Amino acid sequence: MNYNYRYRLDPSDTHRETLDRHRDLYRQVYNHFLYRLNHNDGTTKYGEINQLPSIKQWWDNLTDLYSRTLQNVVERLYTNLSRLKDAKDNGRAVGLLKWKAPTEYRSFTYRQSGFDLKNTSGQTVLRLSKIGEIPVHLHREIPENATIKQVTVKKEPTGEWFAAFGVETPEAPPEKPENPEKCVGIDVGILKYAHDTDGTAVKSLDLSDERERLEREQRKLSRKQHGSNNWEKQRKVVAERHAMLKRKRRDFIHKLSSYYASEYDLVAVEDLNVAGMMQLDSNSRNRASAAWSTFLRLLEYKCEREGTHYIPVEPKDTTKECAACGVKTNKPLSVREHFCPSCGFTADRDANAAWNILSSGLENIGVGYSESMPVETALPTGTTSVPAKRVIETGSPVLKERAVSAASE
Ligand SMILES: [Zn+2]
Repeated sequence: MNYNYRYRLDPSDTHRETLDRHRDLYRQVYNHFLYRLNHNDGTTKYGEINQLPSIKQWWDNLTDLYSRTLQNVVERLYTNLSRLKDAKDNGRAVGLLKWKAPTEYRSFTYRQSGFDLKNTSGQTVLRLSKIGEIPVHLHREIPENATIKQVTVKKEPTGEWFAAFGVETPEAPPEKPENPEKCVGIDVGILKYAHDTDGTAVKSLDLSDERERLEREQRKLSRKQHGSNNWEKQRKVVAERHAMLKRKRRDFIHKLSSYYASEYDLVAVEDLNVAGMMQLDSNSRNRASAAWSTFLRLLEYKCEREGTHYIPVEPKDTTKECAACGVKTNKPLSVREHFCPSCGFTADRDANAAWNILSSGLENIGVGYSESMPVETALPTGTTSVPAKRVIETGSPVLKERAVSAASE
């Protein structure tokens, strides 16, 4: 099974200098290969990786870098390229790959080799080839039987360095039940964060206070002289506010995804609904789409770990269709109620969508509605709307003792 662990590093000033120098060189290499990609026809990932030795002949500093990590930079470029193509194939308006400015290229990855985690006189250190041994805050242990596959070191805008370990343990992931009993469909939304078929609606996380505080610090920054000592101090304050906002959001989606993965045998969820997103302005659209894909990624990973079926469902007509009879009715986003002109079924718009998501999910794996989930009786039970705060504080949207175990990641 695969796990991810993230730890804070405690680099010395010399380490910091080296880390930053390497990070910037990797960035330049990325931009170099991006230039080659845009100016040469028919470049391929492996063809370009094979160019590295000859590039090292004239680009002196590259010999200071770890060569496997250097290859990884080229791989990253081609991964970004294929993601862009996928987005384009899905009908999204995409631009070209962008140059990375110094602040935009924050991490690099050692894969398979060139690193070690070891204990020297009570202190755990991360040895990175060509960089050195950096103390790590190991706040929780990596399982002893785990193999570390890769490590990504990243500098946050606050100036802190982190190491994210991708590890693999010999245990196979738990088997997914053949006849899943506890099944849930989740409609991930914009006004509400999530609405599920068990009648739980989780409100969106309210970060307006945090956002306001961040904006206030940003305004202060804009009044300082760029590059001055005060400016640099204020830039750190802004970065910390930013990090705090991100931590809160992550904490929320970690807990919510843990809850669904551990409470259910099967989770059906709508794949990124681009059409729904288009009704937002571009700023909130970007924010919502980023949060959404992070939530789906975490949910998939946690379901895998818990032996829960994770079933992404194509976002098509889930809001239009009637969950009781299947007849389609158009309704704009402002209409919050589903009323079926054909069978008279009435439900909350998102509850109706969640049921449609669950039934397509079950169809996808070849299971129909079971006796335990009669649509008509389960649907009108009403909805409990809970604030996102409850998820953060108790790890679960439902007020039950059993949910406590879900609070840990
Ligand atoms: Zn109907």
